[in-house]
Amino acid sequence: MMLPKDHASTPWSVAEAENYYGLKRWGGGHFSVDADGYMLVHPEADQRTIRIHDIVNEAIGKGLKLPLTIRIQDLLRTRVVELNRLFKEAIKDESYDGRYRGVFPIKVNQLREVVEEIQAAGKEYDYGLECGSKPELMIALAMHKNIKSLIICNGYKDDEFIRLALNGRRIGKEIYLVVEQLSEVARIIQISKQMGVRPLIGFRVKLSTTGEGKWASSAGEDAKFGLTSPEIIDAIRRLKRAGLADCVKLVHFHIGSQVPNIQTIKKATVEAARFFCELHKLGLPMQIMDVGGGLGVDYDGSRSNYESSMNYTMREYARDVVYNIKSVCADTGVPVPDIVTESGRAIVAPHSILITEVCDTISKTSVGVKKSTKKKRNMVLTDLDSILANQHGSSSLERYHDAQHKKEEANNLFNLGYMDLTERAEADAIYWQICKELVALTKGDAYIPEELESLPQMMAEQYVCNFSVFQSLIDHWACDQLFPIAPLQRLNESPDVDATLVDITCDSEGKVSKFTDVEDVRSTLRLHELKPKQPYYLGFFLVGAYQDIMGDLHNLFGRVNEVHVFLEDDEDDGFYIEDSIKGFTTNDVLGFTQYDGHIMTRMMKKQIDRATKADLIKPREGTRMLDEYAEILRGPTYLKTK
Ligand SMILES: *Cc1c(COP(=O)(O)O)cnc(C)c1O
Repeated sequence: MMLPKDHASTPWSVAEAENYYGLKRWGGGHFSVDADGYMLVHPEADQRTIRIHDIVNEAIGKGLKLPLTIRIQDLLRTRVVELNRLFKEAIKDESYDGRYRGVFPIKVNQLREVVEEIQAAGKEYDYGLECGSKPELMIALAMHKNIKSLIICNGYKDDEFIRLALNGRRIGKEIYLVVEQLSEVARIIQISKQMGVRPLIGFRVKLSTTGEGKWASSAGEDAKFGLTSPEIIDAIRRLKRAGLADCVKLVHFHIGSQVPNIQTIKKATVEAARFFCELHKLGLPMQIMDVGGGLGVDYDGSRSNYESSMNYTMREYARDVVYNIKSVCADTGVPVPDIVTESGRAIVAPHSILITEVCDTISKTSVGVKKSTKKKRNMVLTDLDSILANQHGSSSLERYHDAQHKKEEANNLFNLGYMDLTERAEADAIYWQICKELVALTKGDAYIPEELESLPQMMAEQYVCNFSVFQSLIDHWACDQLFPIAPLQRLNESPDVDATLVDITCDSEGKVSKFTDVEDVRSTLRLHELKPKQPYYLGFFLVGAYQDIMGDLHNLFGRVNEVHVFLEDDEDDGFYIEDSIKGFTTNDVLGFTQYDGHIMTRMMKKQIDRATKADLIKPREGTRMLDEYAEILRGPTYLKTK
């Protein structure tokens, strides 16, 4: 919907763009806009920048079509360093007598290039890896090079998993088996006896502290993970009897991802630290306290305890973890442990940007309708005319009620055959015209009557984006997780269209109609009017955690193209694309559902041959048809835009 003219002509500065799209609030110093209105990324949160639009152009030059995932590898590195540095600082400031030994949970982003970059960045901090399944343990064992860093094994474990971990012990790795279920204790005892390897054991404790936010069910009495206090006592008894009690050195908890409130983290840390101290008092050689994940990402930039946000910083998190462990240990007179965190989301979310192109718009009011030429104008139309002209000087709400009433009447007349299609079209058009006017009239009002609240969203233009929510933004669909979204260009022009976004899946849920805002949630996003022949790119930010691997094949779209970007060392704003990964081809995704491209082509050929024989098509046309079919098989699943 176009805003009234006076709004469109208001000057618009890049500072306003930064403010409207919240760059400074959610961006952590990594995003800004240049004087020409292009979005910049600051990989190291300093003055060195890359125009994201340039990356897109270069990728397109390399033959990679949109949608596109861009990984800013230096940004990833920056996050790893930041977390380690902040814990180091907190430890120094608190005169804490232990070390920080963080691990990266592989499940949050398993891509080899991501794990490699994290390992490289964390090398000097002895930053390790966490795994929660056999395949992830396979990755951890192979990728783990720094012998001074930890491997932590969480999750359900079968005998093979335990053996694999103990083999890791044998080749000198400091690898912890964290007991999630009591039944694992007996198997760890048995297998370590068989193999003659002494394990390193941790207990995941089921805390009574529950989290809040979307993933709160990872903790609390009914969580599916962890040992209750009676189970811990029982596990110790068994391990003592097997002569393995001195292998227990670690306490672990995880209260769920994206914890919005720092108070939850403090409470959980205190409770777990109490477990640590009590286990020490029972004579176990306790050394490590693993506080799991949960460190949030401020997706909406509101710094609040709203579920897509967090009311604390990474620095505050580090300080509170260190401080609370220290004070509990001091009170109990127990030597402090080394501290492990398993922060995944906070490490990887910011480095990845999804780029889509807006390929079409859907608008209720874009097609004009001619006034009916019938001599006798339908009464309903005359009534709608008068509501549009507001002949009675009614209030917005009153006009809305009247318009709704007349629209319903028009529908009834149409269904009964008393109104023809041209009249129906006119009735619809006038109704939408009225709604559009009501939106403009009430915009910015401090109070908007409840019934009118949904109007802006109903009247918003829908921008059709070449991507699939189910592949690339799964948490937005699955649990209403918000991600910041902004155009990559024209940020020096006022965005005058109130829009919602829809994807290209044939699913009404494939849309984005909730957007981040400092207060509350926006139901529409202001974007620019599309210009002919000018591609309009949108960036979805902070998408590096979980989205890649949890995305699905709905409508058989599949993985998107991807580029890995590095800063160029000797230039201020230089970059290079080191790697690119091709998204799925049509043939790839068909393979996942048991189709075989060759067989399908052969089946098509048979039918085309038959049609040629029957003289429905010329042989030349048949050949072309088959070529085209085969070419689409080899090509991408997403829309080919010009
Ligand atoms: C998922 C998970 C993590 C990662 O949590 P984030 O909130 O992404 O940091 C850490 N530890 C365990 C046990 C997990 O299951």
